[in-house]
Amino acid sequence: MDIVAESDVGRVRRNNEDALAYDAGRGIAVLADGMGGLDAGEVASRLAVDRIMGLLGEGVAARGADPETLITGAVQAANLDVCNQSRENQVDMGTTVVAWLLTTEGQCFIAHVGDSRAYRLRQGALKRLTSDHSMVQQMIDDGILGEAEALTAPNRNVITRALGLNSKVEVDVRSWVHRPGDLYLLCSDGLTDLIPEPEINQLLAELASDLAAAAKELIGRANEAGGHDNISVLLISP
Ligand code: CA
Repeated sequence: MDIVAESDVGRVRRNNEDALAYDAGRGIAVLADGMGGLDAGEVASRLAVDRIMGLLGEGVAARGADPETLITGAVQAANLDVCNQSRENQVDMGTTVVAWLLTTEGQCFIAHVGDSRAYRLRQGALKRLTSDHSMVQQMIDDGILGEAEALTAPNRNVITRALGLNSKVEVDVRSWVHRPGDLYLLCSDGLTDLIPEPEINQLLAELASDLAAAAKELIGRANEAGGHDNISVLLISP
């Protein structure tokens, strides 16, 4: 399995509040985008990534666990961790998360909360696998806003779901059968806010055989377009 993870602070912010990790041997990867004052965002995203990686790693190693239950439980446990840490430190913090798991049977799972995304490139075509938990996405779903308008909507970074806000969190999980040649992209909104999906599609299709170059190019283009936020990408070629 070939996996590349890259994260960049961008051109405007001083802190990088994104966190990411993967374990190619176990077929797991996690990306989180934290929020909160001072270094709280960094603490929240790192805490969530570490917790989810730990639980998924154990679950995969133990075998037998139902993957959907495993991935949902891991995200919920991370949510409680961030809630507890927030209470202990008396500081508001939260984080998005997108977690990826490929079973040895070839079933792929994505769990997410917030506006970090997962995409799949299959036979040259990019498909978004997650639906943002954001005000803008809600307006699109309600027919109030078009997809094109959403790209520049002033409230596009307002999310409606995150880890750390409430002791209970609803986790969206999706699964499908992995096909040889499928390529996956997990990313934070610092990428998707600045690079239109058709451009991401074209770039990945061109650079599918060189993930390191693809990751570098994605981050470079987001920075060229302003780099107003932290930019993180995880590229997975199972
Ligand atoms: Ca962000």
